[in-house]
Amino acid sequence: MFRTYQFRLYPTKKQQEKIHFTLERCRLLYNRLLQERICAYQGEQKNLTYYEQKKTLPDRKKAIPELKQVYSQVLQQVVEKLDKTYRAFFQRVQNKQKGGFPRYKGENRYRSFTYPQSGYTLEGKCLQLSKIGSIRIRMHRGIKGVIKICTIMQKNGKYYTCFSCQVKPASQPKTGKQVGIDLGVKHLAVTSDEQFFSAPKHLRKSESHIKRLQRSIFKKKKGSKRRKKVVKVLARTHEKIANRRKDYAHKLSCLLVQAYDFIAFEDLSISNMVKNHQIAKNIVDAGWGQLVQYTTYKAESAGKRVVLVDPYQTSQRCSCCGEIVKKTLAERVHRCICGYEQDRDINAAINILHLAQQVAS
Ligand SMILES: [Zn+2]
Repeated sequence: MFRTYQFRLYPTKKQQEKIHFTLERCRLLYNRLLQERICAYQGEQKNLTYYEQKKTLPDRKKAIPELKQVYSQVLQQVVEKLDKTYRAFFQRVQNKQKGGFPRYKGENRYRSFTYPQSGYTLEGKCLQLSKIGSIRIRMHRGIKGVIKICTIMQKNGKYYTCFSCQVKPASQPKTGKQVGIDLGVKHLAVTSDEQFFSAPKHLRKSESHIKRLQRSIFKKKKGSKRRKKVVKVLARTHEKIANRRKDYAHKLSCLLVQAYDFIAFEDLSISNMVKNHQIAKNIVDAGWGQLVQYTTYKAESAGKRVVLVDPYQTSQRCSCCGEIVKKTLAERVHRCICGYEQDRDINAAINILHLAQQVAS
């Protein structure tokens, strides 16, 4: 099993130059390899493979000495990246899905490179990268497992590294507890044992901040310096919010996996809430998908179980007697003729748990 961690890097001016040099060399190589694939196909109806292209790297280094300043596995990974893009394209064609042919990468359109096996080491507060140097890293959380892949990224003028780590599933102590979870707008998650979890307020606040920035961009002249400045601020704000949202989803999913052995969610892919456009925006904001995704992989590595169920009528059905009690979105309390009264979301969460237990048994 793999887990990915992202950390901020603080390269010096000189290291930044080397990172940009590497990105640019990778980009040019990527475009060149793409061009050769296209030419081979147009000329001889031949599909160049990953291995055929990889074999050309030593000759390229002889012809272009600059390539020697890039770690060789980083270059190999460019060949692989193109190959993956190609395969994904053909897969889409086969599945009759939409999606364009692999494209040339324009300047500033190539933002990451990867050390697939070696060339990197963590040494205290620094990440040692072959051909680049020892870069200061801020590790805001510990990592588990062995780093297998190390990617360097440049985003909005900041630098990051992504570690893909192989972790052995370490089982968490069993608690014997099962839970159903209703995902909502007012509360991100409501559990069948009557706990409420809300998305942090600052996420809401930043939403209005984003709207203000968008309006401000709209008013400024295209191509102007001031507009570019605001566009940059907007990108950073989006990034900040995305990071906070991720952080919250990580915390909550950790909590759930620690507390329960069996966790039931509604299946968002069949949930009618996603189809309802009015609250679709809030769904994105609340990060339901992220919560379910994180909980699923954490449960998997902890030896616990997540089950997704069809949410059909889970909010209408009485979790006590099974009767359908029709209610609008505004009605917050479930009141049944059987005498059962419960918060609407808790009632739904209990139904979700019951459905999952049926599926699992
Ligand atoms: Zn009832």
